[in-house]
Amino acid sequence: MNLNSLSNEEIVELIKKGEVKAADLTDNAICPTCFDKANNHVLYGDISDKMLYEDFDFECFLVPNPRSDGHVAISTKKHFKDMMEIDDEICQKIFVLAKKVMNSIKDIYGAESVYLCTMCDGPMNHFHVQLIPRYASEKRGSNNFVKPRKEYVHHQEKIDMLRQILSN
Ligand SMILES: [Zn+2]
Repeated sequence: MNLNSLSNEEIVELIKKGEVKAADLTDNAICPTCFDKANNHVLYGDISDKMLYEDFDFECFLVPNPRSDGHVAISTKKHFKDMMEIDDEICQKIFVLAKKVMNSIKDIYGAESVYLCTMCDGPMNHFHVQLIPRYASEKRGSNNFVKPRKEYVHHQEKIDMLRQILSN
């Protein structure tokens, strides 16, 4: 669908009707993440209760449709198509932060391991990494990257602990 001739309000209405999805915005070179923020979270909903850490460069939050309990994403605030486009400083910072978040998720959620993947693709993106816990009851291996999405469960105590660790 060509959205370029439509106004912001018209696109918002089409999203509400379910006729336009995030992928349609991407196809029209409109960033879904920025569009969501500028339009009252019409695409993804308000995730401020899932936000764990934020600084000048990054946002770190619990994924609203997780592959396992404690599934976290760390996203750049600036646009980068994918990992190949980021500068070395961002590269260094995001992996140091990811390590800290992974250790914290492992401890606080009681995961046996935490996996990291990134697969940004498409013309307009915020480079991000996904941190997916594997629990003792789950087999090791790459199937953990494609575990079915499940319902998000809110654990306020765990979130408070993560926020405290990541703020230091
Ligand atoms: Zn954006």
